[in-house]
Amino acid sequence: MNHPTVDPQLLREARDRARREHEEAKASGLKLDITRGKPCSAQLDLSERLLTVLAEGEHTTQAEGDLRNYSPTQGLTELREIFAPLLDVRPDQLVVRDNSSLSLMHQCVASSFFHAPPGAPEGTGWAGQTVRFLAPVPGYDRHFTVCSELGVELVTVPMTPDGPDMDLVEELAGKDASIKGIWCVPKYSNPTGVTYSSETVQRLAAMETAAPDFRVYWDNAYAIHHLRSTEAQLDPILEACEQAGHPDRAFVFGSTSKVTFAGGGVSFFASSPANVAWFLKRDGFRSIGPDKLNQLRHLRFFETTEGVQAHMQRHREILEPKFDAVLRHLEKDLAELGIAEWTDPDGGYFISLDVVPGTAGRVVELAKEAGVALTPAGATFPGGVDPDDRNIRIAPTMPSTDDLDTALRVLTSCVVLAAAESLLP
Ligand code: PLP
Repeated sequence: MNHPTVDPQLLREARDRARREHEEAKASGLKLDITRGKPCSAQLDLSERLLTVLAEGEHTTQAEGDLRNYSPTQGLTELREIFAPLLDVRPDQLVVRDNSSLSLMHQCVASSFFHAPPGAPEGTGWAGQTVRFLAPVPGYDRHFTVCSELGVELVTVPMTPDGPDMDLVEELAGKDASIKGIWCVPKYSNPTGVTYSSETVQRLAAMETAAPDFRVYWDNAYAIHHLRSTEAQLDPILEACEQAGHPDRAFVFGSTSKVTFAGGGVSFFASSPANVAWFLKRDGFRSIGPDKLNQLRHLRFFETTEGVQAHMQRHREILEPKFDAVLRHLEKDLAELGIAEWTDPDGGYFISLDVVPGTAGRVVELAKEAGVALTPAGATFPGGVDPDDRNIRIAPTMPSTDDLDTALRVLTSCVVLAAAESLLP
């Protein structure tokens, strides 16, 4: 953050107000939580019909037949046709699996230790080697914890308004064969809201990598989660990779966790024919087949691609006012003080707040004293350590607008108090 000049007198006045508000909040016994980006009940209610959409006797599709029994499948054909355009892939490139795309990412990294993905010599794996992934920061904490769980080291790369710093990505991936992948949330990124530019997509597809089996983990979790009428456009990564002569470069992931039920949706993996064959082979040893009836529920519930888009519009109607409420508070309480910067995303689940460097941890601590749980400072960095201690992720989706109002009043008071402690003599 470029720190605009702070007017000490303004900050002193704001601190005095913030102290009173903080004391009042402490005395009032608040208990609010704006930590995780979960859908709220009203969003879950939009998909309630999924629970009853299949009547007794409805368990077949023309292409797959009876879905009640064991049988391997790449995913129901008609469901792949509905979701492929939303992920900018072809139906034959798409695999549908059970809830949780994160589990697919974990599975791909873990499998690579025993059976390296296409590009590496046949029959080899990463086991016994030092393996590193590039981690654009701030980023998604669970990408980082998949790596720490599986013994993969992370090398951070700063995010820019166009995606990761590509000069650095090209330099690192180009010279170090231990760098086997990069984590990307390419649309409405978690937590910055950034959508990768065409140039970034092109450079990721075209760059030379020292590792022959380098993979772009393209976690398109928020592909269809628009918040505004301006919808960000993201170039299709698989097409870009094909055109650049690296057809096996990217693994695409997605899910309906924030479309239908976070605990009962379907997930997606998409890639080149060689990668899909590699994935299905590994996956076939893990499971005899996914929950095909849940896939059928999703198929009958949405019916068409347009059906999914109309459903996402209803999510937007619930979420847009919540994001507006957060932004209103940040603007009203912090803008003129010059002590913080924040994002105003067109989609996704988060607002990223940068406070005075060295104070994010203190802000979270002060908020906790006043009964408001914030995502731990540093959560958006590997190991939970933000070297500048300045980034805080705000997740507006779950609380009611009233609770958000209260939580944000507390949060902005804490930002002011921590800034005053740091900047005023
Ligand atoms: N990817 C990103 C970027 C996310 O923010 C989340 C959830 O917050 C997930 C993946 C988790 O997805 P799933 O529920 O499909 O495992």
